[in-house]
Amino acid sequence: MTADIGALDLEEAGAVLAAEAARFASFGWMRGTSGNLSVVLSRDPLRLAVTASGRDKGELTAADVVLVDGRGAAVRGGRPSAEAALHARVAALTGAGAVVHVHTVASVAMGRRAPGGIVLRDLEILKGVGQPAHDVDVLLPVIANSQDMTELGDRLEAARNPRMPAVVVAGHGLYVWGADPRQARHHTEVVEWLLELELTGR
Ligand SMILES: [Zn+2]
Repeated sequence: MTADIGALDLEEAGAVLAAEAARFASFGWMRGTSGNLSVVLSRDPLRLAVTASGRDKGELTAADVVLVDGRGAAVRGGRPSAEAALHARVAALTGAGAVVHVHTVASVAMGRRAPGGIVLRDLEILKGVGQPAHDVDVLLPVIANSQDMTELGDRLEAARNPRMPAVVVAGHGLYVWGADPRQARHHTEVVEWLLELELTGR
């Protein structure tokens, strides 16, 4: 479990998330206002700052952020995405301090190709998600999509690999988490790299 990020207020969190979103948008991973990012501001009660819904993720400001509770409901700020509920579920389930959700082409394509999960092995970059680089199969789970965040959260909880900080949602995109926004970003970059390799390498 990560410690509370007591020093980070909502606006500071908004600035951090805006910078992260601009980077992901520049990669083409948050097209057409898709995706959302969050950071945990307190554990008890669980409170997360989540990027505001419907905004261009390359143009967010520190104010484009919503404070949500453990069910993803707004406590302060504007309208959160329905997906905020899944961010809260991931943070509660995994102890993550930050969650990234992006709609990448590689995650959707690989979710379609490997609906039972993606097995990765013998790749140096697996170290970037805390996995052995040799001789061990590493499962990146794939779950079916749903518009019901409770159902989607149940699927994520049932399928998740505790050793892998990511889940692919078929026909949708990718959820990745880490101890803080920087680690969540690094995990996202590594997982996306792995998905692109699987997609192009076969
Ligand atoms: Zn989404």
